[in-house]
Amino acid sequence: MTALLLQGARVIDPTGPVDEVADVLIDDGRVRQVGPSLVPPPGGECVDLRGTMVIPALVDLHAHVMAGLGDFCVEADSIGVDLGVPVVVDGGTSGVSTFDICRRAVIDHPLVRTRVLAFMDPNRIYLATGDFICHKLEIANDLRNLDVEALAAAVERNADVVVGFKVRACHVGDPLHSPFLAAALEVADARPVMVHLGRFPHTPTITPAALLDALRPGDIITHAFRGAGGLLGPDGRPTPQLREAVARGVLLDMGHSATDFRFSEARRLMDHGYRPFTASTDLNVFNVGGPVFSYLENLTKLLALGCTLPEVVEVATTNPARAIGWDGRLGSVAPGCPAELSVISLSDEGPVPVSDGVEPLMAPGAVVPVGCVRDGVWIPARRPASFASAGPTWGVGSGGPVG
Ligand SMILES: [Zn+2]
Repeated sequence: MTALLLQGARVIDPTGPVDEVADVLIDDGRVRQVGPSLVPPPGGECVDLRGTMVIPALVDLHAHVMAGLGDFCVEADSIGVDLGVPVVVDGGTSGVSTFDICRRAVIDHPLVRTRVLAFMDPNRIYLATGDFICHKLEIANDLRNLDVEALAAAVERNADVVVGFKVRACHVGDPLHSPFLAAALEVADARPVMVHLGRFPHTPTITPAALLDALRPGDIITHAFRGAGGLLGPDGRPTPQLREAVARGVLLDMGHSATDFRFSEARRLMDHGYRPFTASTDLNVFNVGGPVFSYLENLTKLLALGCTLPEVVEVATTNPARAIGWDGRLGSVAPGCPAELSVISLSDEGPVPVSDGVEPLMAPGAVVPVGCVRDGVWIPARRPASFASAGPTWGVGSGGPVG
């Protein structure tokens, strides 16, 4: 493997914390040295990154990339390494019975360069589709679709890539209990369970209070800032269940999607101290053309909400690595760590507009991808479309499906 020297960027590593201009020497898939004026390796590749920032690998904790399974997914590389994002976690596109083919078709596919990890849906058959087929056919809430032994076996078989479960907490009569969530919690062990906050058509879900009460420390609420999700009470204040859940370590994830992130709700929750722990997109074919666009656009939106750049870096890199228990392998630029890094810059074109799908807001600058290091190899990025470049590409009320 060719040695690689990233030269002259501002290195931001929340695990240090480090925030300094330095070179980063990479060899044999690992960060070897971080410091000023490092000597280029003989025969190695040098990349001039003055004016940019080297940060730990961007990790999108919730997107849909099992392309070919249903009609919901985008190609992993198109939202991953092509945009400076080395790691994408699939948010439960697949249930148990189709996971092995997803693994062969995407995760292990030799042409897919993005590292794809996955939250698995605990049902035997689940696939995310635009028409919510598993909800329309009522198999997302059919106990015959649940097999705890098959679930445990599938996780064991794919333990290197299944980082947890994605649960649509449907119930079968008791609105306070989801057997699907219970099965995931039973098998999860130390792995996190990511739950979808919000409803689905056709199949009822348990109440937000019951959902919050069931979660363990380290479990993840995606779509946490969606608005009307039940995290804030009628008085606009955090519910007791939210306060208790976050106090014991339940994590709040952005999970933007077309309709599941609202600046107004984020402001309300952040005013009460409930900030996003992770910044995921829920990218799929129905929102990649707007209002989500890219993981980078999510980060620009966090800047627009007043987060600082170091905060945004932590929420986009180190925190998702911690959330999936990969903090030894991802989330740092320190010498000895695997060379999974991202390089971003902040546009100098002045304030830029962003939108949550409803409300436009100005950010001080756009977070722009420069490239990434995936398994020690430099991959330059293309600049994605954004609200600033494309405008409102969605129609009023045509938010599209969520998953
Ligand atoms: Zn999703």
